[in-house]
Amino acid sequence: MVNQERKTEISNGLEIANSRINAAARSANRNPSDISLIVVTKTFPRSDVDFLYELGVRDFGENRDQEGAVKAENFHRDARWHFQGQIQGNKIKSIVKWADVIHSLAEIDHAKTISDRYQMGEAVLPAKYPVLIQVSLDSEKRIERNGVEPKSLTEFADAIAKISGLEIKGLMAVAPIAQNPDIAFAKMAEIFSDFKEKFPMATWLSAGMSGDFESAIMHGATHIRIGSSILGNRSYL
Ligand SMILES: *Cc1c(COP(=O)(O)O)cnc(C)c1O
Repeated sequence: MVNQERKTEISNGLEIANSRINAAARSANRNPSDISLIVVTKTFPRSDVDFLYELGVRDFGENRDQEGAVKAENFHRDARWHFQGQIQGNKIKSIVKWADVIHSLAEIDHAKTISDRYQMGEAVLPAKYPVLIQVSLDSEKRIERNGVEPKSLTEFADAIAKISGLEIKGLMAVAPIAQNPDIAFAKMAEIFSDFKEKFPMATWLSAGMSGDFESAIMHGATHIRIGSSILGNRSYL
């Protein structure tokens, strides 16, 4: 159970985030309903997730298998769980059981394992597991290596497209720390536009966090992942 003070904090945070999303969409000449908010609940308790559900939230983001698995267990069936953290190969078997979509795919070996593990599971829908390819927006000077390098993206996606149990939903990106998000997301928009020519079914662009989601919306993000500006500061990280 969440106390009244926490309820007020969360509902205010959600309301403010939604109005900022709407304002950013309007100034980008976009329809706010084309932008999905994923509330990133990592490190926050299941009671917060329950309350967010009461407020109408259906999309939840988690970074760790163990934590996500516990929160998603026996949760409402119409909720969607988004895995967006770094993938560990030995956790994939578990991740595909509770997560409805993986945003952070960046290795071929992981893609094969996701497909195998998913197809080995019970007969569940959808037939193909939805994944987003994480693209690196790092400048050449400062490589943090979070994602596939843009120059290798087509080759990577071609290989993923050949794996029978996967569906490429789109791209995901994180703006590098210590870089202007507008510059990073402008680059991302270009990459996404080229990508869609070759993969027109890949309609999702997952980008934007608490500190930079307005910029991401300006540059075409369809799915934004917001944690701390709704739920408050995380106690670790
Ligand atoms: C934690 C995290 C978020 C949310 O970050 P906030 O700054 O709390 O909004 C979004 N995306 C990824 C990949 C994350 O790890």
